[in-house]
Amino acid sequence: MSNLIDGKQISAQVKEQVARETAALREKGITVGLAVVIVGDDPASRIYVNNKKRACETCGIQSFEYALPGTTSEAKLLELVEKLNGDPAVNGILVQLPLPKQISEQKVIAAISPEKDVDAFHAVNVGKIMIGDYDFLPCTPAGCLTLIDSTGVSIEGKRCVVIGRSNIVGKPMAMLLLHRNGTVTICHSRTQDLKEICREADILVAAVGKANFVTADMVKEGAVVIDVGMNRLENGKLCGDVDFEAVREKAGWITPVPGGVGPMTIATLMRNTLSAAKLQNQVKA
Ligand code: NAP
Repeated sequence: MSNLIDGKQISAQVKEQVARETAALREKGITVGLAVVIVGDDPASRIYVNNKKRACETCGIQSFEYALPGTTSEAKLLELVEKLNGDPAVNGILVQLPLPKQISEQKVIAAISPEKDVDAFHAVNVGKIMIGDYDFLPCTPAGCLTLIDSTGVSIEGKRCVVIGRSNIVGKPMAMLLLHRNGTVTICHSRTQDLKEICREADILVAAVGKANFVTADMVKEGAVVIDVGMNRLENGKLCGDVDFEAVREKAGWITPVPGGVGPMTIATLMRNTLSAAKLQNQVKA
């Protein structure tokens, strides 16, 4: 039976630290603000946005919500982003994805000022991450790194396998593990011998978006297993990419869903917003 990586508890510690630091900034007359933009009425997006707003309250970060109708044009959204770029009360801008079909996500991400891009999706921030000289790390992969670190298992020299190569999870996750001197393999839908590759992993990160995709026979005895997946089952229950009950018998460490990567992603967003405020106010880290 593996050890559980408690994302709720670790994220609470991160948020407490952020709250302490925002309080210290307030004493210097500096407030921290995050603008959250949601377009349309996707129920999952609404839940994420509400969770982010709640986390802001816990952390002493002012949140500004902009809820726009699903029919909003690209030009209107770009206009709002431009306004937020110039608003000194807003240190971070988060545009909840996915966006409706008529709006190009890439255009919107490119319009966000890189200094306020607390999701770290802008090409400037992605490039900085590639060269290892960055201000922010993307929230989900950075959250995964914190969870791996919490186990005490060193990444250096370890076999790391990431399943998934999206721009927001898989690719940056692989890069962060590489920066920490892991030996990294990225798998995707065209990968051959996936099971054999996964079985070599000391650290296995699943970001596929398919319920119970990672089965026990794909996992090395004692491995650290990080489950990024958030899949809604027909009965409404949330479920990860990993067959949790079977894999926990084999892994050394495992994250649950819910209560693993999800809360950690939000805590990392709070940390990034604080970092953005410090950078914009020339406060040393
Ligand atoms: P995505 O853009 O759909 O990417 C999924 C990746 O999985 C793709 O690279 C795809 O390969 C790969 N894949 C699909 N089927 C596969 C197969 N049979 N074998 C191997 N690889 C396969 O998804 P994403 O945005 O990265 O998100 C992944 C999951 O994480 C989703 O469940 C999402 O909801 C969740 N998520 C959670 C958080 C959080 O905070 N917890 C944050 C973000 C995302 P190809 O590239 O070849 O198509």
